[in-house]
Amino acid sequence: MPQLIAGNWKMHGLAADAVALAKAVAAGAAGLPTGLPCELLVCPPFVHLTAVAHALGGAPVALGGQDCHQAKQGAHTGDISAPMLRDVGAKWVILGHSERRQNHGETDEQVREKVLAAVEAGLTPIVCVGETADQRAGGQETEVVGWQIAGSLPKPFTGVVAYEPIWAIGTGKNATEQDVATMHAFIREELVRQFAEAGADIRILYGGSVRPENATSLLAVPHVGGALIGGASLKANDFLAIARAAKGG
Ligand code: PEP
Repeated sequence: MPQLIAGNWKMHGLAADAVALAKAVAAGAAGLPTGLPCELLVCPPFVHLTAVAHALGGAPVALGGQDCHQAKQGAHTGDISAPMLRDVGAKWVILGHSERRQNHGETDEQVREKVLAAVEAGLTPIVCVGETADQRAGGQETEVVGWQIAGSLPKPFTGVVAYEPIWAIGTGKNATEQDVATMHAFIREELVRQFAEAGADIRILYGGSVRPENATSLLAVPHVGGALIGGASLKANDFLAIARAAKGG
């Protein structure tokens, strides 16, 4: 399976910025003479999804949301449903990002319900897991991530897992190749333990301060199926440079 390079634009940019970024990513993706060795995805803020879908045109760049509600519709002020995301052209959705778990108190159970809603709407979920600095300092990183996987992924699970150590998100401190190798091997083992054979094929992304300078080495680590990128996805050239470092299927 090709690696997945996913950009999480978070709450950045006005409409004109989002359109310009989408156009630059689309032009870069379409203009590479040998084609991209990976799948590309961008996840803009909800309000820019339609404009970004148009700006991407027919380029080989998929569109995703950064969250969705677990219900299809209803009295949920300020929320967006999975069918709404699908309706504006999204094929993917990031769920359980640590910023949602921390800032909105999202629990594993809510994330699991969101995953079910996303899959029912025809979206592929990217479920984020990862430990805090304190949990790692206490030697609890595998325990925490194991529980998050058990609690956040429904059975069966059709989607992608993103390992994002919270201490490495937006901090410029990326995990070492050894940290990533250890955790991705653990996550693979856990997925196989929890999902049997299907667990061997679930893509596991790494996220946390991935940049063009460290992408090649991080993307070469066993069981790394791609990257979830925050800061560097806001610069088309950096995002495309990371994509060029990815491996094909
Ligand atoms: C993220 O928020 O998913 C992320 C990985 O951010 P950054 O690349 O900025 O660390």
